[in-house]
Amino acid sequence: MTSRIAILGGGPVGMVTALLLARRGIAAALYDARPIEDLRRDRRLLALSRGSLQILDTLLGAGTLPMAPIRRVHVSSRGHAGAAHLGPPVTDHAGDATHDPSFGTTPVGATVWYADLVAALARAIDAEPRIVSERPRRVLGLRQYPDHVCVTLDNDTEITCALAIDAEGGPDRHRNAIGAAPVRSHALLADLTLDGLTPGDAFERFTDDGPFALLPVPGSRRQMSMIWCLPSPLAHTRHQLPEKPLLREIAQTLGPRFLAPTAIGSRNLFPLRPTRIDRVCEHRLVHIGNSAQVLHPVAGQGFNLGLRDCVCLVGCLTDTMAGTDIRRTHDVPAALARYAATRRLDRAVVPALTGMLPQLFSSAPLPIAVARSAALGALDLLPNVRRAFARLLMFGVRV
Ligand SMILES: Cc1cc2nc3c(=O)[nH]c(=O)nc-3n(C[C@H](O)[C@H](O)[C@H](O)COP(=O)(O)OP(=O)(O)OC[C@H]3O[C@@H](n4cnc5c(N)ncnc54)[C@H](O)[C@@H]3O)c2cc1C
Repeated sequence: MTSRIAILGGGPVGMVTALLLARRGIAAALYDARPIEDLRRDRRLLALSRGSLQILDTLLGAGTLPMAPIRRVHVSSRGHAGAAHLGPPVTDHAGDATHDPSFGTTPVGATVWYADLVAALARAIDAEPRIVSERPRRVLGLRQYPDHVCVTLDNDTEITCALAIDAEGGPDRHRNAIGAAPVRSHALLADLTLDGLTPGDAFERFTDDGPFALLPVPGSRRQMSMIWCLPSPLAHTRHQLPEKPLLREIAQTLGPRFLAPTAIGSRNLFPLRPTRIDRVCEHRLVHIGNSAQVLHPVAGQGFNLGLRDCVCLVGCLTDTMAGTDIRRTHDVPAALARYAATRRLDRAVVPALTGMLPQLFSSAPLPIAVARSAALGALDLLPNVRRAFARLLMFGVRV
């Protein structure tokens, strides 16, 4: 047996899990199909919640990752009344605080490039003697037995472990996936240059074509990262447009009250297929992160939710494993059942909420338009509602 725990997939969720286990003194072997250089070419900018930043700070050390703080999130809907502002208090011209002080004075979150995150995690893993990391090493399949799991790798070897953690992403691989459907929409990503930005501002704008977000870019005061979720044919058309017509389309879509972008960087398309599986545990196999749920990126919650999976799983396992060889106990399935029960609510509420938003804001009928304007107004005006919503986005649902 090479290791008691095998982690299948070394994206950010797999790597964080390996590091959290190692910090509790537990060894793991991690396998990823791609070299780290491949992952570092990814052009996603991740918005991390305050809760996620706390987790990463304890693993990597505060200040290790290049980040841009998010101080205020402005949520609005093109062509409709109502807007909401989430963030710590700012003072108006009379010197009065205009936002809810319950946010404190620290940023609500920060952005980090996926590429920088995986590079920092890979460095931490290289420095950790309790983790054996093999990449590129594809997992081809696994077989479960009452007291162990056999994992087959693409170098004709088979490893035996007490527990397999699936962090391979893409839940549509599973039979019990809910909502796995053909890809109908894509996210168009690009950096926009805008003049007159307020540092720390982030924008979420619901447009007729789909949700449009602008996030602050680490190390830049003039650029924001655009993520525009669009029906697939439109996303492909806009991906190919020359710069000037695309800038015009963006300015028209955002409306006259928004800053108009003056330049656009290279563009990337990501297919969107929100999915989740119901059963995250199967005897000695557990699915976490994107293997268990893929969220619509509208509210930037996928990795934040995945990180909470990692922390909860390691907590449940270490309660079980302290000082024992889990292969000789019957505790692993019990620990996984505890994990599934603890994560049930967060895994149900956050995907449902983020899945509902694009539909709610793209529906034209008048009652829905009135309801969403009222909802945005309520979010802005009612401190209790705003506080509850912000806590949900920053820390998830706690049981
Ligand atoms: C456009 C976009 C924007 C996003 N923005 C945000 C955001 O702002 N905030 C946020 O919280 N989330 C965001 N997300 C979601 C976030 O990117 C994911 O939740 C996160 O990457 C999940 O990490 P993961 O490690 O579970 O999966 P992945 O990042 O998909 O990693 C899976 C790993 O498994 C490996 N693998 C796959 N198959 C095998 C195999 N057979 N054998 C071995 N290895 C294998 C892959 O090589 C990969 O490295 C966004 C997503 C998209 C698409």
